[in-house]
Amino acid sequence: MDNAQFRHWAVKAAEWGDDYRKSLRDLPVRAQTAPGDIAAQVPVSPPDTAESMETIFQDFEQVILPGMTHWQHPRFFAYFPANAAPVSIVAEHLVNALAAQCMLWQTSPAATELETRVLDWLRQALGLAEGFSGVIQDSASSATLAAVMTMRERALDWRGNAEGLSGSPAVRIYASDQVHTSIDRAIWVTGIGQANLIRIPTDGDLRSMRIDALERQIEADRQAGHLPAGIIASVGGTSVGATDDVAAICAVGRKHDLYVHVDAAWAGSAMICPEFHHYWQGVDEADSIVFNPHKWLGAQFDCSAHFIRDPNSLVKTLAIQPEYLKTHGRDGIINYSEWSVPLGRRFRALKIWFLIRAHGLEGLRTMIRNHVRWSEKLAERLGKEPNFRIVTQPMLSLFSFRYEPDGVDDLDALNLNLVNAINDDGRIYLTQTRIDGQLVIRFQAGQFDCTEEDVEAAFDVICEMAGKTAI
Ligand SMILES: *Cc1c(COP(=O)(O)O)cnc(C)c1O
Repeated sequence: MDNAQFRHWAVKAAEWGDDYRKSLRDLPVRAQTAPGDIAAQVPVSPPDTAESMETIFQDFEQVILPGMTHWQHPRFFAYFPANAAPVSIVAEHLVNALAAQCMLWQTSPAATELETRVLDWLRQALGLAEGFSGVIQDSASSATLAAVMTMRERALDWRGNAEGLSGSPAVRIYASDQVHTSIDRAIWVTGIGQANLIRIPTDGDLRSMRIDALERQIEADRQAGHLPAGIIASVGGTSVGATDDVAAICAVGRKHDLYVHVDAAWAGSAMICPEFHHYWQGVDEADSIVFNPHKWLGAQFDCSAHFIRDPNSLVKTLAIQPEYLKTHGRDGIINYSEWSVPLGRRFRALKIWFLIRAHGLEGLRTMIRNHVRWSEKLAERLGKEPNFRIVTQPMLSLFSFRYEPDGVDDLDALNLNLVNAINDDGRIYLTQTRIDGQLVIRFQAGQFDCTEEDVEAAFDVICEMAGKTAI
């Protein structure tokens, strides 16, 4: 591809993106394909000779697009959002063109210095205390992995990386029964082992970790000769928004000298609105906090903001400096690759900078407040329908419900059929979860282009499809 062609196709791709966003409401939200449909249309062997860009682009539209689920669709109410404001996509176009590897300060000083600055903007936007340092990780999973490694090394007096875990007492990590699977993975990868991730039961409307049970478990573990290392608190769990009492957990952490990591991957974005701060009250006492601007704030995937009270403990855990990575004579600079598990880093700060400047914090707050309000209204309306029950009340913009008409024995099967029928229909997209042993349907609003009419359309589709669904 020569420069002239590059220009032509880059412009074409950008224009295509604009047309695509405009046409989204006409497309089914979830891909309407069966497993293998797409693969069957892609040759099993690579071409030996070059193909024309016209053909390649045409195949993108004809072969690939039908197999895409449209995450930017305004009626995407499944999982959590992966919300991409147009301005963040523009920033990513530029990042793609620069194609820089931003692992060290000197491999792109602007990327490092902008990252420091915009993460501090985010810290202020969330109302976090001064003194937290921020770094962008590729995902919340990576931030949690880095935090669990820090817990482990701190508890082992920094000997784990060098000596392994076989000679040490069992390193114990505590989390509720509602936390995300990324915590299990971090426990596996760090060699701590699933048996040493201790699930503390939850109670109350917010399904918070029971603090009395947490304390008892830590004391029992100490007596048994184990090595308690850290606690992971959840704010806005993925299933139904489970939220721990962060202040109480931090107090336990301080009392027992344990490292506290807060997983607010989805809900953290809402903390730019002061009225939601009660959900993570006490967070300033945590050691580590992660939230994903790529979920609800509008920064295109991937972009995970990780705040750390004491970056030295993180760097002591993760930094590795062979001669070829040293930046001699540059004291005091930050090499962010020492703050994360992967060495290579994309320039992710640019899209945050564009996003916050183009919308202002007030613009982003309005979006989040709207999503929460529309979702609360939907829960209220659905709860008044005769055969629907709101199972978990809205935590921010997430709630769960169940369709429970009289005379049906297997309500789990009925609700699974309902969610499948809704998604096959394609006008909206919802997902299910299980809570207290029952299958329930989740709803969350969080798309950048979502309007109140889109949320009202969800009500109509849910009621219409329920009327047609049987076991
Ligand atoms: C989405 C989510 C994660 C994982 O986020 P990734 O960035 O995909 O790793 C972790 N915890 C919670 C609560 C989440 O909602």
